[in-house]
Amino acid sequence: MLTNIVTGGAGFIGSHLCEALLNRGEEVLCIDNFFTGRKKNVQHLLDNPRFEVIRHDVINPLELEADRIYNLACPASPVHYQFDPVRTVKTNVMGALNMLGLAMRTKARILQASTSEVYGDPEVHPQVETYWGNVNCVGPRSCYDEGKRVAETLFFDYNKQNGVDIRIIRIFNTYGPNMLLNDGRVVSNFAVQALRGEPITIYGEGNQTRSFCYVSDLVRGIIAMMDCEDFNGPVNLGNPGEFTIRELAEKVIAQTGSKSEIVKRPLPENDPTRRQPDITVAKAKLGWEPTISLDEGLKPTIEYFAKLVKEGV
Ligand code: NAD
Ligand code: UDP
Ligand code: UDP
Repeated sequence: MLTNIVTGGAGFIGSHLCEALLNRGEEVLCIDNFFTGRKKNVQHLLDNPRFEVIRHDVINPLELEADRIYNLACPASPVHYQFDPVRTVKTNVMGALNMLGLAMRTKARILQASTSEVYGDPEVHPQVETYWGNVNCVGPRSCYDEGKRVAETLFFDYNKQNGVDIRIIRIFNTYGPNMLLNDGRVVSNFAVQALRGEPITIYGEGNQTRSFCYVSDLVRGIIAMMDCEDFNGPVNLGNPGEFTIRELAEKVIAQTGSKSEIVKRPLPENDPTRRQPDITVAKAKLGWEPTISLDEGLKPTIEYFAKLVKEGV
């Protein structure tokens, strides 16, 4: 039986990944410091004897045995990763180092959850893996963007220098159930605002674009990459369907039947103007592509937030 470590396993994506791995009959050690993760996200898995939760900060070394490591620990919402930027850098860099050290000692295969943010505010559209990016190293997003870039560098250097078996995925904006009510990212903000009848806050003019992937599609891609032999990546994982933020607001209003008005708020500094994954590599190497449209994926997401809003949590 394969033993997996999932760092950040109590977070939004991590909790879905833990569940999917358990459903494959594998063992899962969920490592989390609960900064943006919640026990509630994995509570339903606790009865499974193949599942364990360990409170640990990946900034510190960790001695466990594993066959496979999924390194997801890192706050992903700009609101949360900018709360303590130095800690975000430490999580990305020292977390990667420690997990790579563990992978080297145990000869585990290790996958890094990298991000479309490595492309920064991209001059190449859609983004291909060979594009080096356009990233500010001293802006408000740098702790996350540069932290993730160094982590990719560390992964490739541990591979070259120490023969560690690495996999790198670059995740584009993903959404779905298990996001925090106060996550701060756009889908959760709009859904919660619409459900509460509060104004929907568009930053800037709302002409900036993002491409939104439903979480179950993403998790399928993550596991396909881990299972893939002889390909380290990096590989883009995301849904190529590209929408303006205003279009997203309109979809959320339509699906919730909300009477919320749309209001404009200042555009955050260095907010990328557009983002869309080129998934040619994922299709060719993994036979992977998303199947769930934004309209389809918003339904269960809104249902999830409606329950949270009703419970007042
Ligand atoms: P999330 O914030 O919901 O989950 C992150 C998890 O990591 C949380 O459970 C948090 O408590 C934990 N964590 C943070 N710092 C830690 C530390 N030092 N030690 C141990 N645990 C720690 O975010 P998410 O959306 O689930 O993202 C998961 C991963 O995927 C992150 O690495 C993120 O950068 C990456 N990613 C996500 C997206 C997206 O759109 N959701 C896009 C690109 C990349
Ligand atoms: N490490 C870890 N768990 C292990 C093995 C190593 O957390 O099972 C940590 C180790 O403490 C170090 C990092 O991973 O901080 C990198 O380890 P490596 O062996 O590459 O380097 P060194 O120990 O020489 O710094
Ligand atoms: N955004 C917005 N209103 C919000 C939250 C976000 O208009 O309440 C915008 C944000 O400026 C960005 C896009 O939505 O252009 C996506 O933001 P998010 O924080 O979800 O992720 P990012 O892709 O920027 O990391």
